[in-house]
Amino acid sequence: MQKVVSGIRPTGNLHLGNYFGAVKSFVQMQNEYDCLFFIADWHSLTTHPKPENIRRSTRTILAEYLACGIDPDKAAIYVQSDVKQVLELYLYLNMNAYLGELERVTSFKEKVRKQPDNVNAGLLTYPSLMAADILMHKADKVPVGKDQEQNMEMARLFARRFNRIYEVEYFKEPESFHFNQKAVKVPGLDGSGKMGKSEGNAIYLCDDEATIRKKVMRAVTDSGPTEPNQQKPEPIQNLFTLMEIVSAPDTYNFFNDQYNNMAIRYGDMKKQLAADINDFCAPIRERILAYSADEEYLAKVARLGAEKAAESAQKTIEEVRHIIGFR
Ligand code: AMP
Repeated sequence: MQKVVSGIRPTGNLHLGNYFGAVKSFVQMQNEYDCLFFIADWHSLTTHPKPENIRRSTRTILAEYLACGIDPDKAAIYVQSDVKQVLELYLYLNMNAYLGELERVTSFKEKVRKQPDNVNAGLLTYPSLMAADILMHKADKVPVGKDQEQNMEMARLFARRFNRIYEVEYFKEPESFHFNQKAVKVPGLDGSGKMGKSEGNAIYLCDDEATIRKKVMRAVTDSGPTEPNQQKPEPIQNLFTLMEIVSAPDTYNFFNDQYNNMAIRYGDMKKQLAADINDFCAPIRERILAYSADEEYLAKVARLGAEKAAESAQKTIEEVRHIIGFR
């Protein structure tokens, strides 16, 4: 079975955009591939998080991914810092990574521009840590968004370079897996653009019913269509797109017809949309609460995931040591 490795950035709660844009695909992937999902807590240190934030976000991610349907019997879900072998491979890869090429990585240049006071070596070597995570398990496929494509090219470059330096055919070049192209883009509620945490326009899977209703009722609309079958402006299209994602087709068609007949009442549409979003989120929310309250279970899932990940990691690191010349 082909192996899929994917990192999860510990950046807080999952929203509908994360679910429909990524997590839902992960849940499907675990049936077709040998999946390893890891919480990238070492990567997160580049922004100097507080210890309690690291602890909390690790627990949150575990609970939320399990609630979304990641099944620890099918996929390994582990915490990056539990698999120490990665650090050793990171060191070896760094020895063959050059300052010039690391400095040319677009995401690094962006960080330099955005946070000039914190241009640390971890940021610079982010691609070698990511490559270590992937190459460690000889991943065939890595699900990534467009923004990660350059880091994937670096991972392939490091794999080829290692093979060339040591005259071996050891690491295979991991493929990028662009499931995002097929996944829907979930719009925000503020009239334009996509749903995102930093955009402040997100509905989170853990939001309660009242919060969901409040957020949806506040969504930007206009004064309504002025002629039949008019093209929808972006804020209105966004509401319809959300409805297409979470509501029944009949519901969507009903409001779409109303729009086309200029009979739409946005208040009614929003009430329906809020109810449908809540129906979608409620069972996930309940599972999030249940898993979050069961620290023992979360610890067990992370331990089993780490054990599975450490198995292939240990094998790789022993072979790599041998290739490099350590006995
Ligand atoms: P982020 O936490 O913003 O880095 O998002 C993690 C992943 O969730 C991204 O790589 C996307 O695959 C997915 N995602 C985030 N926001 C959206 C959205 N509004 N629509 C679709 N997918 C999204």
